[in-house]
Amino acid sequence: MTKINYDQWVQKSLAAERFNQEECRTILDSQEIEILPLLQAAYTVRKAQWGNSVNIHIINNAKNGNCPEDCAYCVQAKTSKTQIADYPIKTDDEIMAEAKNAYESGAFRYCMVFAGRGPTKQRVEKLSGLIQKIKSTYPIQVCLSPGLLDQEGTDMLKAAGLDRLNHNLNTSERYYPEICDTHTFQDRLNTLQAAKNSGIELCTGMIAGLGEQSDDIIQVAQKLRDVEAQSIPINFYMAIDGNRLGPKHDLTPERCLRILCLFRFINPKSELRMAAGREMHLRSMQVMGLYPANSLFMDGYLNTKGTNHAQTLQMIKDAGFDIQSEHNLEDLLEKANEKNLPEINNGEKAIMKSIEDLRPARA
Ligand code: SF4
Repeated sequence: MTKINYDQWVQKSLAAERFNQEECRTILDSQEIEILPLLQAAYTVRKAQWGNSVNIHIINNAKNGNCPEDCAYCVQAKTSKTQIADYPIKTDDEIMAEAKNAYESGAFRYCMVFAGRGPTKQRVEKLSGLIQKIKSTYPIQVCLSPGLLDQEGTDMLKAAGLDRLNHNLNTSERYYPEICDTHTFQDRLNTLQAAKNSGIELCTGMIAGLGEQSDDIIQVAQKLRDVEAQSIPINFYMAIDGNRLGPKHDLTPERCLRILCLFRFINPKSELRMAAGREMHLRSMQVMGLYPANSLFMDGYLNTKGTNHAQTLQMIKDAGFDIQSEHNLEDLLEKANEKNLPEINNGEKAIMKSIEDLRPARA
């Protein structure tokens, strides 16, 4: 029986040393791992960079569905048979109203996501105008997820004031052909490189539970270190009836926590987000994810619901964390409790958002 030296991993991570394959496999798979010391080690690394703060992100699905791409896990893909409330791009007024709501709800960052392969030049110009408007109206960071972009596109968005570009790697280069036929891992990397060249911060992560092996997860964690991703969302695959991938996943709460710890050790300074699927896969262990991760989404995901405002804020408070926001956690929690929002469980089966959830600011 090998004695695990958790403290050695802490020191190594804080010194920004590279973890080798054997260490990474041990973190993900070894029977010798005890989850509490592992979490404590990851928390020590998290705390050195982020203290006890949690960054809340609210996502706005600014254009839903009808995507020409065929990502097997996605309900917006052309190959998905799932009924979703699709719509073309929201109006500027609607997007501005949702930015206001995100700011007033305590979000540190407002994320706009547009389904599709990538934007045309005209669309990039339109998005640039929107970014300028949001940034000049609210003191909130803006992140955009527009699909594949070239250098000209990322330069234009940078000039408009874009803080971050989201473009997830999703899985390893080896496994990528299993989940998508219409674009490649390299296409995704090229977009990240263009954004980096423009001086835009990178938000890029993965979806665990797509049928990948531990080595694929390790490869993504190392690749995100290589591209110096400032923000890493870790999504846990939510199987939804009708999507091409089907019910494939091997996630347990412990597996999810080990994955978060691995990403934390390898990327000690990145904002690490416990993203979509935390409710479904971490279940009663959700709060433990805040020890390696310092960020989460509130109000659900692109097409599925997540825990409501009050549940999310209460979890942060109960664990003794605070939020990075101009607003006070207690005040936000009080306001959220006054609304008496329906509790969302999202345990065994994903709960889909309705059009009212997706477009709350529609006139
Ligand atoms: S490109 Fe984005 S929206 Fe389109 S299918 Fe892939 S993940 Fe879904």
